Amino acid sequence: MSVHRAMGTTALDRLKARYDAEERTCRQCGYVDREGGWQVETTGSRVLYRHICPSCGAIDRRELRL
Ligand SMILES: [Zn+2]
Repeated sequence: MSVHRAMGTTALDRLKARYDAEERTCRQCGYVDREGGWQVETTGSRVLYRHICPSCGAIDRRELRL
C-alpha cells in the first residue's frame, strides 16, 4: 500500500505512528479512540497534530518544531 506524498515524510510518519499509539485517549472524557488517529498538518517548520474526540468532540492539539 503506498500513498502519494508531496514530500518525504518518513520521520513524520514515525512521529505520527507514535502519537497514534500513545495519545488516543481523550483528556476530557477518557474515551479511547481506537479507530481514529491524529491529523497531521505541516506549516513550514512546524508540525501540527490534531485529534478530535468522536465521543465528546474535544479537540486535542500538539505542536512540534522540526
Ligand atoms: Zn472525549
